[in-house]
Amino acid sequence: MDYRFTPEEEAFRSEIQTFLKAEVPADWDFDPFELREDTWDFAHSFTRKLAGKGWIAPAWPAEYGGQDLPFMKQVVLSEELAYFRAPNTAIIGINYAGPTLMVYGTEEQKKELIPDILSGDIIWCQGYSEPNAGSDLASLEMRAVKDGDDYVLNGTKVWSSNAHKANWCFLMARTDPDAPKHKGISYFVTPMDTPGITVRPLINMANEHIFNEIIFEDVRIPARYLVGEENRGWYIGMTTLDFERSNISSGASYRRSLDTLIGYVKDCQANGDGGLGKAPRTISTALADLAVENQVGRYLSYRVASMQDRGQIPNYESSAAKLYHSEYGQKLSRLGLGIMGLYGQVAEGSKHARLQGRFARTYVTSVGTTIAAGTSEIQRGIIAGRGLGLPRG
Ligand SMILES: Cc1cc2nc3c(=O)[nH]c(=O)nc-3n(C[C@H](O)[C@H](O)[C@H](O)COP(=O)(O)OP(=O)(O)OC[C@H]3O[C@@H](n4cnc5c(N)ncnc54)[C@H](O)[C@@H]3O)c2cc1C
Repeated sequence: MDYRFTPEEEAFRSEIQTFLKAEVPADWDFDPFELREDTWDFAHSFTRKLAGKGWIAPAWPAEYGGQDLPFMKQVVLSEELAYFRAPNTAIIGINYAGPTLMVYGTEEQKKELIPDILSGDIIWCQGYSEPNAGSDLASLEMRAVKDGDDYVLNGTKVWSSNAHKANWCFLMARTDPDAPKHKGISYFVTPMDTPGITVRPLINMANEHIFNEIIFEDVRIPARYLVGEENRGWYIGMTTLDFERSNISSGASYRRSLDTLIGYVKDCQANGDGGLGKAPRTISTALADLAVENQVGRYLSYRVASMQDRGQIPNYESSAAKLYHSEYGQKLSRLGLGIMGLYGQVAEGSKHARLQGRFARTYVTSVGTTIAAGTSEIQRGIIAGRGLGLPRG
C-alpha cells in the first residue's frame, strides 16, 4: 500500500501552509473546537476567510457550493488546519451535519442548508444526549408530535457543545413512544431561534463555557425539517456519529502538540533552565514512543479517509480511530505535564506558565475526549461486535 500523497496534493498542502503561516497569529494556541468568548470574533472572521477561499469543505459537490475536489484534498486541508490549530466555527457542520444531509437530506434541505455551511454562516450544534440518555442513547425521551404541517418538540438536551453560538441544531426525538425504542425515533434539523428554545450554560471542569443544556418547550418546526423517514431517525443519527468519530484531523493536532513538547525539551536542555521534571533519558524514550504512536494514529485516520473517498460510510473503523486518538491525547497531556514538573500545572496567564499553559489546560480538557461522541467503552463494544464479530454480552 502506498501512503504517499500525490505531487498535486503536496502542492495543495504547501499552498495551505503559506496561507496559514500568514493568517494565523504565531501565538494562537486554542483548539479549533474551543469556541471561547475571548476568541470567538477572530475564530468567526477567520472561518469566513476560509470560506472566501473555498476551503470549508472543498470536496462537496459544486451544485451545493463546493468545489468537487477529490476527498483526499479535503483530508490534506483538515490536517493542515488542525496542525496550525486554525479556528473553525463551521466544524460541526463540516464534519457531522453536512455529510449526513448529503446522504439523507432531501434536495430542498441540501439546497437550503449546505451553501450556508460552506459560507461559514451556519454554526451547528448536536442535540443527542439527554439527562437520562447518553451511552444508551436510544432511551431518549424528547418528544416530537406531528401537528398539521408542523412537528412540536418538547424535552431537554444536555452537553450540547457550542449550542450557545449555534443557529441550527440537528437532533433526535421520539415520534412513536409505543414502538421498540430504536424504531420510534426521528431525526430533525431545527433553527435555534425558534420560539420555545432556551440555552443554558454548563461550565466544564476547565472553567470554560463550551457545553450547554437546551430546553425545548412547545417548539414548533415545519415538517420539512424532518430528515429521512419518520421513525427511521436512529439509523441517520448513527451515521452522523460514524462521521463524527472519523477524527481525520486529530492525529495532526496531536502531532503539533508533540512537536511543541519536543521543542520545549530541546530548549530546556540547551538553556539548562531547569524546566524539566523528569530525567532526560526517560523523557526521550517517552517522546519517541508517542512519535511512533502518532504515526499509527495517522494511518488509522487514513483508512477512514480512504473509505470516505470511495463514498463509503466508515463504522467500526471510525470507532477505532476515535478510541485511539482520544486515549493518545490523554497520554500526551499526561506526559507534557510530567515533563514540565510543577511548571506543567501553571495555567495560562501566569508568568510561570510554560507553553501558554497548554498542557495544564489539555490535561483537564482531554478527559472529555474519551467521553464525547461515545465513551471508550462504547467504541470497544462497536469494534468487538461489528469489527471482530464477537457476540454481545
Ligand atoms: C467534551 C464533550 C462534548 C460533548 N458534546 C456533546 C454534544 O455536542 N451533543 C450531545 O448530544 N452530547 C455531547 N456530549 C455528551 C456525550 O455524548 C455523552 O457524555 C456520552 O455519550 C456518555 O453518556 P453519559 O455522559 O450519559 O454517560 P453514561 O452513558 O451514563 O456512562 C457512564 C459510564 O458507564 C459506561 N457505560 C455505559 N454503558 C456502557 C456499556 N453498554 N458498556 C460498557 N460501559 C458502559 C460509560 O462508558 C461510562 O464510563 C459531549 C460530552 C463531552 C464529554
